[in-house]
Amino acid sequence: MMAFYYQCRQCGTEIGTISTSEAKQRDLGFEVLSRREQEEMMQVDQAGHVHVDILCESCHEATALNPELHEQNRWVH
Ligand SMILES: [Zn+2]
Repeated sequence: MMAFYYQCRQCGTEIGTISTSEAKQRDLGFEVLSRREQEEMMQVDQAGHVHVDILCESCHEATALNPELHEQNRWVH
């Protein structure tokens, strides 16, 4: 059975796995993304499973607090 594997694209943490039947019933947030964005963040492996790169909660918070997190030199203390 096809499943969606969610992984954080920032830290690589496995966030969770849901089956297709669950996926249909859940709000995955995909409707806010364009078709192209969806294809970029979703990768289908040889077994037909979908791997989705998203941000985990802690990385999401870090990014929200520090939009320029990747530019650490610009941090002001
Ligand atoms: Zn993360």
